[in-house]
Amino acid sequence: TTHQKVALVTGANKGIGRGVAEQLAALDMTVLIGARDPRHGEEAAAAMRVAGGDAHAVTLDVTDQATVREAAKLVEERFGHLDVLINNAGITGSGPVSPEDAHDQIPSSVKLDMVRAVFETNVFGVISVTNAMLPLLRRSPAPRVVNVSSHAASLTLTSDPDGPFAALLPSAAYSPSKSALTALTVQYANELRKDGVLVNAAAPGYVDTDSNNHTGFLTVAQGAAVVVRLATLGADGPTAGFFGEDGPVPW
Ligand code: NDP
Repeated sequence: TTHQKVALVTGANKGIGRGVAEQLAALDMTVLIGARDPRHGEEAAAAMRVAGGDAHAVTLDVTDQATVREAAKLVEERFGHLDVLINNAGITGSGPVSPEDAHDQIPSSVKLDMVRAVFETNVFGVISVTNAMLPLLRRSPAPRVVNVSSHAASLTLTSDPDGPFAALLPSAAYSPSKSALTALTVQYANELRKDGVLVNAAAPGYVDTDSNNHTGFLTVAQGAAVVVRLATLGADGPTAGFFGEDGPVPW
């Protein structure tokens, strides 16, 4: 009997998540389009079905435990297992994170409520979704988890006084939330290594999406590529890693 691979992508109704979902569907996976707004999820899933993919919308707000539970129940009842989890849903907390418009991320004046909201989605939401889906992932012969992080998570890159992050981009909420996500990735990978669950963090690069007001220079398909690569690793693939399109990203 053949094993139909099932992938769940959070925040898959647009942007990088949608690109990842499209590419996984093109690899013949059944793709579950996680979206906090069911209409947006259904619209994206329908477009992927028109393109020949097996895509289904799943209502999922990563900060809402009830929808996380419901989503896990739906995956359990309809598919009985999960092979790939892409923790993609994320927010910056500010308007576009660009040099001209990142004042709300300046550490000395940042609003604590904004920092909390960013961590709620980018970090705590990932724990919530991952833990809800792990029992289903454990039923897969080759489970893979990819956390969509950022080059802005890299302490090496952000602490370089001559680099673009330190020089231009204050990021009191977003960057630390992604550093925490990368750290969390390592902890999950260490726990799950013995069970064959490969858990890695991806840095998609600066991608043209709503989150940066379309100032990114990579296409969604280009940004999605490294995520898809980590979602389809062979049994000998890495775990506890942090990768961009060009290879490992420094911690
Ligand atoms: P978009 O704003 O285009 O998409 C973000 C997606 O996340 C949307 O589907 C959004 O849903 C969803 N989302 C936000 N909050 C929640 C929530 N609480 N529950 C469920 N879904 C939620 O951004 P990108 O595609 O650019 O970002 C995707 C990921 O890539 C993020 O984690 C981001 O940090 C990361 N990233 C992006 C980079 C870039 O250059 N674009 C660079 C590095 C990392 P809705 O449509 O309802 O708002």
